[in-house]
Amino acid sequence: YYPETDSISYTTLSRFPPVKLLPPSQRKRILVTGGAGFVGSHLVDRLMVLGHEVTVIDNFFTGSKTTVSHWIGHPNFEMVRHDVVEPFMIECDQIYHLACPASPPHYQFNAVKTIKTSFMGTLNMLGLAKRTKARFLITSTSEVYGDPEVHPQHEDYWGHVNPIGPRACYDEGKRVAETLTYGFQRQDGVDVRVARIFNTYGPRMNPADGRVVSNFIVQALKGEDMTVFGDGTQTRSFQYIHDLIDGLIALMNSPESRPVNIGNSDEFTIGDFAELVREIVEKVQDEDGVKRSRRVNIIYKEIPTDDPQKRRPDTTRAKETLDWQPKWTTRMGLEEMIRYYKAKMEEGSL
Ligand code: NAD
Ligand code: UDP
Repeated sequence: YYPETDSISYTTLSRFPPVKLLPPSQRKRILVTGGAGFVGSHLVDRLMVLGHEVTVIDNFFTGSKTTVSHWIGHPNFEMVRHDVVEPFMIECDQIYHLACPASPPHYQFNAVKTIKTSFMGTLNMLGLAKRTKARFLITSTSEVYGDPEVHPQHEDYWGHVNPIGPRACYDEGKRVAETLTYGFQRQDGVDVRVARIFNTYGPRMNPADGRVVSNFIVQALKGEDMTVFGDGTQTRSFQYIHDLIDGLIALMNSPESRPVNIGNSDEFTIGDFAELVREIVEKVQDEDGVKRSRRVNIIYKEIPTDDPQKRRPDTTRAKETLDWQPKWTTRMGLEEMIRYYKAKMEEGSL
C-alpha cells in the first residue's frame, strides 16, 4: 500500500497512529492550508487516519509545527512552510482552504495582512483548484453575518457587517473570499464547498490567542480573574472540534455547493458561560484532589468595538443535506478541553 516508499519498514510506520490502508484508487491527495492551526491539525489527523495523502501548507503565524509533529516522517504526510498569499504548485484531488488567523487579537494584529491572506490566499488556492480540477472547500465564518439582525442565522441571511470597523479585515475578508469562490464556480466550473463555521473550541487551541473559551479555562485553572467583556449579555453558541471536523469532511464529500452553517445551536450569554466554565473547572479540580485557596472572580471589562450581540446557527441545511448534527454537548466538550489544558499546565507548557 505504500508503493512509493517500499523501503519504509513496519517499525518506522508503527511509531505513528494507525492509519487505514486504502488502495491507491481510493486514496486522495489532499492539500490542507493552515493545517498547523487548531482546526487544521484536527482535520489532518482525521484525514490521515482515513488513509489519505495529506500535504499541509502553513506560514506558522498562529499555528505551530508541534500540532502535527506526530505525523512528520509518515509516508502519507508532508508539511511545507508557505504563505498562501504566494501561489503554490501541487497536484491534488481536494483542497481544504483554512489558512487565516481566526481570533480577534490575531486577525487585528495586522489587518492588511489578514485581508491579503483572505483575498490573495483564496485567489491562489482557487487558481490551483481550477488547474488541478480539485474540489475546493473554504472555511468561512459566522462573522459574514456581522452583528446580525436575524436570529438564529440561516444561510440566506446577507448579514450586517461594518465594513470599516476593526473586525472588517476578517469579516469582509471572508465575505470577499466567498464571492471569489462563487466567481470561480460560475466562470470556471470549479467544484466548490463553503462551510460557515460558528465558534469552535477544543484541545490544541492556542491558549494565548485571546478567544473566550481558552481565556476562561486558562484563567480559571490558574486561579486568575475571569474577564467578561461588556456586561456579559452578548451570546455565542459553542461547538466542539470533533463535530466540526465531521461536518467539514461530510460537506467536502457531499454534492452541496451552497454555503452551509456548521455549529452547535446551544446558545449561552457570555456571563452564563463564564459561570459554567468556572463550575466545570472546579468539578475537575475536585475530582483530581486539587486544593483551591478561593473561588475565582468573574470581572467585567470594556466590550470590544462591533462585538456581535447575538450568535446562534440555524443548522437545518447541514442536517438536511449532510445528515450532520453536533454530538458533543457543551458540558462534555468543556470537560475534555479543561482536562487537556490542565495536563499542559502540569507538564509546564501552559
Ligand atoms: P488558527 O489561527 O489556529 O489556524 C489558522 C492557521 O492558518 C494557522 O496555522 C496559521 O499559521 C495559518 N495561516 C494564517 N495565515 C496564513 C498565511 N497567510 N499563509 C499560510 N498559513 C497561514 O485558527 P483556526 O481556529 O484553526 O481557524 C481555521 C480556519 O477556520 C480559519 O479559516 C478560520 O477563519 C475558520 N474559522 C474558525 C472558527 C473557530 O471558531 N475556530 C470559526 C469560524 C471560522
Ligand atoms: N470575550 C470575553 N472575554 C474574553 C474573551 C472574549 O468576554 O476574555 C467575549 C467577546 O467579547 C465576545 C465573546 O466572548 O463577545 C466571544 O469572543 P471570541 O473572541 O472567542 O470570538 P468572537 O467574538 O469572534 O465570536
